[in-house]
Amino acid sequence: MWRTNSLRVAVVGAGIGGLAVASGLQRAGAEVIVLEQAARFLPRGSGLSLFGNGFAALRSLGLEERVRTVAADGPPTGPVGIMRPDGAHLAVFSPPTVAELRVIDRTELHRALLETLAPDTVRPGIRVEGLARGTLDLGPSGLLEDAHVVVGADGIRSRVRGSHAGDPGPAYCGYGAWRGITDGPVVLPDGGETFGRGERFGYMPLRDGRAYWFAVRPSASDEGPEPGELAERYGDWHAPIPELIASTDPRRIGYQPIERLAHPLRTYSRGTATLVGDAAHAMPPTLGQGANLALEDAAVLVALLRPLVGDPDPGTVPGQLSNYDKARRNRTQRIARQAHLLGAAMQWDNPLAAAAREKAMRLLPDPIVDRGFRSVLRWSPPN
Ligand SMILES: Cc1cc2nc3c(=O)[nH]c(=O)nc-3n(C[C@H](O)[C@H](O)[C@H](O)COP(=O)(O)OP(=O)(O)OC[C@H]3O[C@@H](n4cnc5c(N)ncnc54)[C@H](O)[C@@H]3O)c2cc1C
Repeated sequence: MWRTNSLRVAVVGAGIGGLAVASGLQRAGAEVIVLEQAARFLPRGSGLSLFGNGFAALRSLGLEERVRTVAADGPPTGPVGIMRPDGAHLAVFSPPTVAELRVIDRTELHRALLETLAPDTVRPGIRVEGLARGTLDLGPSGLLEDAHVVVGADGIRSRVRGSHAGDPGPAYCGYGAWRGITDGPVVLPDGGETFGRGERFGYMPLRDGRAYWFAVRPSASDEGPEPGELAERYGDWHAPIPELIASTDPRRIGYQPIERLAHPLRTYSRGTATLVGDAAHAMPPTLGQGANLALEDAAVLVALLRPLVGDPDPGTVPGQLSNYDKARRNRTQRIARQAHLLGAAMQWDNPLAAAAREKAMRLLPDPIVDRGFRSVLRWSPPN
């Protein structure tokens, strides 16, 4: 399967994290194979918020320009913050905090990242079953041996992570999200999220005037209610929420139960294998950081492996992967913990608890809310 004498890297999973690692290493001269279980790429019908940290990572990987062609031209116009269902603002982020925020159609982001790879880098329809002593079990497709590095970018149910002892597996957070993209352009007076009792609704503009929106609600099971219920449920929330739902083809509204990694991992790297993105630190999307952190992971991993590309001494790989673990674990696990705690507080539906949360948000000065979020976004790529 391998053709060259440069660093041989097997990436498992062609999500945002896997494609970013593959692209950065291939650009550096490594030989890269991406194994993806899906037989083909399907449109995703949802968007994604990228912040300054995600763009800094893309810049370091040489991917920023390409991704900007599919991103919104600017941040949302009007105030971006947290509202009540009647439209009153509870908190507003300062313009510098959201200046770098751009929302992207996920399908377009995937296509943009895929186009940066050499043809045939991604092998679709290959499901990795496990990893033992550096060899990947590809089920009916056989074995993949002799990679210098294996990168598990295979999401929250990672098989690469599963081959390590003590895999905590995923945990259901007790709530789920509907997501949609309007069929055509809509005028958004502002952006952000609206908090009701135990549920919230968010919306942001996409590049071409369409809007991406999501509704997050508690659910005892991981089965989603029908999208038809949405119009009624949010019918009396402030504009433009009812219009956003009405402007979206119900067949293209998707429901996803929200999960996280049940416990933080002790390490992201073992021997010549490492983990990036959700495989390493899946978290609820409360802070909009899962994909941004996957891009950060990719930038750090690529920077550490780049010096090995032309002279791949297998003895040096574990040391660099251990440096990657040291560079990434604290930050990503801290943000995952914050996202989990905040996500749980946002779902409080007890009237007293919900009223206390609203009061706290109203009383908390905007600069403090702002500072908290900015500390999450503060990150610089390695040189
Ligand atoms: C409702 C919601 C909203 C979100 N909003 C945001 C946001 O605004 N901003 C943000 O930064 N993040 C957001 N996130 C988080 C973000 O989507 C994820 O963190 C990100 O997509 C993780 O990327 P990944 O590449 O690590 O994993 P994934 O996207 O899960 O990709 C994993 C890939 O691996 C493949 N795969 C899995 N198992 C195997 C196997 N055994 N063999 C081969 N291939 C395999 C899968 O098919 C998939 O293609 C949100 C998440 C949710 C659920």
